Amino acid sequence: MLSELYQELILDHNKKPRNRRPMANASSEADGHNPLCGDQVHVFVHVEGDRICDVSFEGHGCAISTASASMMTEAVMGRTIDEAEAIFRDFQKMVTTDGSGVEFADSLEKLEALGGVREFPMRVKCATLAWHTLHAALEGQDKVSTE
Ligand code: ZN
Repeated sequence: MLSELYQELILDHNKKPRNRRPMANASSEADGHNPLCGDQVHVFVHVEGDRICDVSFEGHGCAISTASASMMTEAVMGRTIDEAEAIFRDFQKMVTTDGSGVEFADSLEKLEALGGVREFPMRVKCATLAWHTLHAALEGQDKVSTE
């Protein structure tokens, strides 16, 4: 039941990705590439002070990578860089371990929809690509590869 709900959420974000648009006034941006699956993502961020005022992405890839990028933008929009990095660490822990000890705040609970990828090691890279790319952009790097 729960996994059906999660699957619907992923399909919805893949079909109607949130914040998939170019950004003219990005303060940094980065390219992410997952050669194993062929996923390409470009993440734009507009940071003012230490806050992510706007975040968007473009690119193409599998349903998991697109849905994850869409959910990532929703999760970090309006947050500070430290908050965004903390969510990234939790997200990564959720998909690379059994997920115990990771507790998302109510507003971030939908990220748990992607927790199921932990069963599929190849898919973990699809799910974390947009997050690694966001991290690279925030660190001032212009590209990242999952290899
Ligand atoms: Zn993929």
